[in-house]
Parts: sequence; structure tokens; C-alpha cells
Amino acid sequence: MIDRRLGIQGIGMTSKRTRDRLVQRLKDQGIRSEAVLNQIRNVPRHLFVDEALASRAYEDTALPIGLGQTISQPYVVAIMTEALLDGFEGEKVLEIGTGCGYQTAVLAPLVKQIYTVERIPELLRKTRQRLRDLDIYNVQFRPGDGWEGWPKYGPYDGIIVTAAAPVLPEKLLAQLVSGGRLIIPVGPSGHQDLVKVTKMNDHFEQVSLGLVRFVPLVKGK
Ligand code: SAH
Repeated sequence: MIDRRLGIQGIGMTSKRTRDRLVQRLKDQGIRSEAVLNQIRNVPRHLFVDEALASRAYEDTALPIGLGQTISQPYVVAIMTEALLDGFEGEKVLEIGTGCGYQTAVLAPLVKQIYTVERIPELLRKTRQRLRDLDIYNVQFRPGDGWEGWPKYGPYDGIIVTAAAPVLPEKLLAQLVSGGRLIIPVGPSGHQDLVKVTKMNDHFEQVSLGLVRFVPLVKGK
């Protein structure tokens, strides 16, 4: 992945050592997938935040990105990506809550095609350009309400939701193939349970991946 923006290259925040430290921390916390750890090492997270916060880009914390939204914590991106891809044999992933596109960028080289939905058009515009600058082309973007999913390209082999829903969104479950999985934080604002829901032939199986804190999946446009 080529880091084209000059000016913030070559200084401490982007150094290999800083990124290696983050990766080691995620390993210590139980992330096992080499593919995921490599992506966390390679994706230039400092390009997804405001320059004023770039020096903190490789800390394992969520950071504000404006418009009341946040960039997800690297550990949470890693655990969600790992859970989505565990035993994954499909091609198409639907992502709800594009935001700055960090999760999208981590996932993109690991799957064939991503369809991503974001309700704030201004955010989506910037993110589309950012991912293009990073030579990521297997992503289709849609401004809209993630509660509706994106039926046109469904059903999906996997769905990843990076905003918290009070309940499992029925329409997303309906857009999964049999054997498909949904990774989503569920619960009230403040803290939620990150769950993996797998669609079986006639029922759903659900496992918990731990407590997380996300901005809410807003209802409607
Ligand atoms: N994936 C991002 C984090 C996203 S934060 C990352 O990698 O850092 C959650 C995002 O979900 C915000 O951009 C917010 O605008 C969006 N969002 C909230 N409710 C939504 C909805 N109903 N439909 C689509 N996007 C929504």
C-alpha cells in the first residue's frame, strides 16, 4: 500500500517501531490471525485522522474524526475482522458505518468485494477519495440508512456493522446467505456486547466476543 501524502512520512508516528508496538499489543490481547495483524501493521492509520491527532494514530484507542464520529480502536477492528473471516469462504461483505474507512481499508485486501453504507454523505465523499488514494478499488459506497442494508447486491457472505444497534437488525439478517455471519455491537449507548451471529439453515447461532463501545446506529436518514 503506497503512502502518497507527503509531509507526514518518515517521522516518528509512522515508524515501523511504532506500528510493531501496536501489533505486539494486539497479539498480547489474543489476536491470532497473521493476515489481520499484517493489515493493522500496513494500513497507515495516521491518514484516517486529522493531522492534529496523527501522533496518536498508532495508540490502541478510538479517536474523534469530527461530525460527532470516531475512528474505531485498532483492537476492536482486529477482533471484528478476525471474527468475520474465521472460516470465511465467501466473496461479498456488506459493511454498515463506513466512517473514515479504516475498518474498510483493513478488510479490503482480505475479501473480494466490499459494499459499504454510511449515513453522512460528507464523510463518505472524503472516505471514497482516501481509499482511492490508498489504491483500494474493491469497495462500493452508498450513502444511506444501514438499517436497510443494501438489498441490491445481497445476499452477503458476511456483514460487519461498526455502530451499535439496540437490537439485531432484521433486514441485515435477511441479507445473509445460509452460513453467512453478522458481526455487530448490540446494546444501549455506553457499552455493548460485540456478537457474531451465524445464519444456519433454519436458525441463528450467536456467540459473544466481549464488551465494546461504539457510536449508535442511528435510525433513519
Ligand atoms: N468503521 C469506522 C468507524 C465508524 S463509526 C472505522 O473504521 O473507524 C460509526 C459510523 O456509523 C459513523 O460514521 C456514523 O455516521 C455511521 N452510522 C450511524 N448510523 C448509521 C446508519 N443508520 N446507517 C449508516 N451509517 C450509520
